[in-house]
Amino acid sequence: MSRREFTKAVYAEIVKRALHPKHGICCEGCGLVLGAKPYHVDHTIPDALQVDKSRKLTAADGKLLGVECCHKPKTAIDQGVIAKAKRVEESYLRMRAPKQKIKSAGFPQAARAEKTSTKIMPGYRALFAPTDQQKGQ
Ligand SMILES: [Zn+2]
Repeated sequence: MSRREFTKAVYAEIVKRALHPKHGICCEGCGLVLGAKPYHVDHTIPDALQVDKSRKLTAADGKLLGVECCHKPKTAIDQGVIAKAKRVEESYLRMRAPKQKIKSAGFPQAARAEKTSTKIMPGYRALFAPTDQQKGQ
């Protein structure tokens, strides 16, 4: 499904919303006064993550962000989240091949150390057996 873009009317509405009467256009992410700096109108929730794209975009779906201060870092994060969502969906729909085991000889089996005997030494029980005096009490 293709990405929904803001119509010119909605785009203008967002820019007007970000327009400060005294300072001009401000970033809606951090409040920076942009002046002549470039800005983008960003999808607040990335369009690639929207399941239902039948609804038309409104001004509430977008934010005016300064390119350097807010939009670049947000885009980097969004791209990671979108890629992860795609991987999870592909895995869920079993479109991805399951992870294969590494084909190598592996590590050699180490010779097992000889186990220490757990048998009780002969005569050991007799040392701790109750004496006749103890039995009498
Ligand atoms: Zn900003």
